[in-house]
Amino acid sequence: MEKKRRVIKRILNLKKKGYKIFNSTACLKGVHEDNWVRPSKICYVYAGNKLYQCSRAFGNDDACKNCGYLGYPEIIYILKLRPSAIISALNYLPRK
Ligand code: SF4
Repeated sequence: MEKKRRVIKRILNLKKKGYKIFNSTACLKGVHEDNWVRPSKICYVYAGNKLYQCSRAFGNDDACKNCGYLGYPEIIYILKLRPSAIISALNYLPRK
């Protein structure tokens, strides 16, 4: 976790300096503070004729504890209406 925290902190600093980093500050801070609730109940994955809550690793506490998938915290902070997460999500929209 400490190594992940250092990397996230570095990404946050680069973002602050203006580097184009897709993930929102809200998401990155949530991952840095390790306070996002997981496994998530907001998404399911269908694979191999099976439905999995969150991902195929559901039930693997060690995998969830060390989860590096930033998509879910990003969605969680969008649903919490955190401005930086909403702005990041809007960047997915096609531009003319
Ligand atoms: S490891 Fe998979 S199941 Fe666990 S929190 Fe991460 S995405 Fe969800």
